[in-house]
Amino acid sequence: MKVGTSTITHPSGKLNLERIATLVREIVAAAKGREVLLVTSGAIGIGSARLGLTHKPTTIPAKQAAAAVGQGLLMQIYEKFFTEQGKIVAQILLTRADLGDRQRYLNAKNALDTLFSYEVIPIVNENDTVAVDEIKIGDNDTLAANITALIGADLLVILSDVEGLYTADPRLDPAAKKIDVIEEITPEIEQLAGQAGSTFGTGGMQTKLAAARIATKSGAAMAIVHGGREGNLAKVLSGQCPGTIFLPQEPLAGRKMWLAFNPPVCGKVIVDEGAEDALRERGKSLLPSGIVGCEGEFSAGDLVSICGSAGREFARGLVNYDASELKKIKGLKSNQIEAVLGYRGYDEAIHRDNLVLL
Ligand code: GLU
Repeated sequence: MKVGTSTITHPSGKLNLERIATLVREIVAAAKGREVLLVTSGAIGIGSARLGLTHKPTTIPAKQAAAAVGQGLLMQIYEKFFTEQGKIVAQILLTRADLGDRQRYLNAKNALDTLFSYEVIPIVNENDTVAVDEIKIGDNDTLAANITALIGADLLVILSDVEGLYTADPRLDPAAKKIDVIEEITPEIEQLAGQAGSTFGTGGMQTKLAAARIATKSGAAMAIVHGGREGNLAKVLSGQCPGTIFLPQEPLAGRKMWLAFNPPVCGKVIVDEGAEDALRERGKSLLPSGIVGCEGEFSAGDLVSICGSAGREFARGLVNYDASELKKIKGLKSNQIEAVLGYRGYDEAIHRDNLVLL
């Protein structure tokens, strides 16, 4: 499960101890007969309050400093409350660099599996003090979804300050209706996710949808429920989600799941309809002939987003050529590559083995 900053803090940024105590009791109850992991936000918010700042800092060094102050306070309180309930907790701080490196990703998985074997509840946050914006996961909804896939969890519960996903922003539109079940994240669903956010929190509905896309692709269900209502977690676990539940999809295989959502996306390749069809329907590799354009300064070996002619991303993959090379060979047949680049590289721009349909 994941708790957001606004769930565990007062609007002033100070820890809401009563709320945390209740949550911890509920999590401990949920952990009976289950392996449970908690992704928690709050380090930057709590650190900012401790430092006497009235708003979440905006510069990277100030965020890093606030996180360094807040993370200790956060763990101190979880450690105390979980210990009172007879549970051992562990702190795990991860960055995009950890998850994006296959070996480090697997190392993290082994450590978490071992903690589960000791019946410890791992408490995860992004290592904000060392992760600058360019290489950050950036929001804990996404981090929680990546962790859901990493540990192969069946369910991700996002404990939020909203009741679920609505047809419109319920704070602005009294006719807004909560959507109970989402079977598939369609473009219409994406449009519903407006810009939300509180004084100290980070995510809004958009990050929650991004998280749902990752979690459900790993074969997990994802629930969004209000974290301030006692009993919500137990209701989700008994199959009575009071918020919004996203149903699991056919899971991607281990390495492809990692590949699609963990390394940073370094650029974009736009393909024509024929190539899109060959990738989607016929299990083919992406050839230079199907590429109509590319964006970003990626290098060979980087992960890029593959978009159709309408601009919508439908796949990701590891590219065999630098952006500058791809610009020269786009639209060409593979046997023309050598004449243009002066060397014989790969026939494919992205090989099927390194390509994931989203
Ligand atoms: N890692 C950030 C923190 O602990 C939170 C990111 C988020 O709220 O999504 O403050």
